[in-house]
Amino acid sequence: MRPLIVGNWKMNGTLALVAEHAAALTAAASALAVDLAVCPPFPLIAPFAAQLGRESPVRLGGQDCHPEAQGAHTGDVAAEMLREVGASLVILGHSERRQDHGESDALIRAKVGAARRAGLTPIVCVGEKEAEREAGRAEEVVGGQLAGSLPDDFAGVIAYEPVWAIGTGRTPTGEDIAAMHRFLRKTLAARFGAARAGAIPLLYGGSVKPANAVEILKTAEVDGVLVGGASLVSDDFLAIARAALLARFAPSG
Ligand code: PEP
Repeated sequence: MRPLIVGNWKMNGTLALVAEHAAALTAAASALAVDLAVCPPFPLIAPFAAQLGRESPVRLGGQDCHPEAQGAHTGDVAAEMLREVGASLVILGHSERRQDHGESDALIRAKVGAARRAGLTPIVCVGEKEAEREAGRAEEVVGGQLAGSLPDDFAGVIAYEPVWAIGTGRTPTGEDIAAMHRFLRKTLAARFGAARAGAIPLLYGGSVKPANAVEILKTAEVDGVLVGGASLVSDDFLAIARAALLARFAPSG
């Protein structure tokens, strides 16, 4: 599968940044044999789509959606609305949503259903907190999130994002990432069968930068990365995308 490089802008960005990134990504994307996606804040999706144009290989995504298609849910956004303004992906269950908005696995599962209903690819985030890893419970926690957040008809992407690595500059060792991704694949295979599990892209996320991207992307079972802070600088985001190609030729770690 082609590496998938996804930028999560979180609550950052302006129309000027959209224009700059749309131009930079468009210029680079066709020469890069990777799939590129950007998830800006909701109000920036439509202008981003307009700047990219219909033929662009760069995909856009939301950072959340509501389970329902419409209704009295002030401040929320439906998956169908994301689709209509140009998104084809949506990040669900990011640890900042789980933490700041108390999102449960059951709610995330309902949102995954909404993404499917609207024709969006869900990127479901899972990851343990530092104390959970230190207590030797990382697989138990991540396994529980997977079991609870994925519906039986799941088709989409999984992002392993250890909470303690997000925005901190710290990353797990290559062996720890490989071990967790092996665990993810095995757990998905046990539930969905080897063929379906093998087709689910597994992203790593948490302090991915140009400097560590080759190392991370050459790790076994890492099919791409979800990038927060570094995705706001187009040169850095594109350097990470190029690292995915370099990783193909690097000796595996
Ligand atoms: C994220 O928020 O999904 C993320 C990976 O952030 P950062 O790259 O900044 O750690």
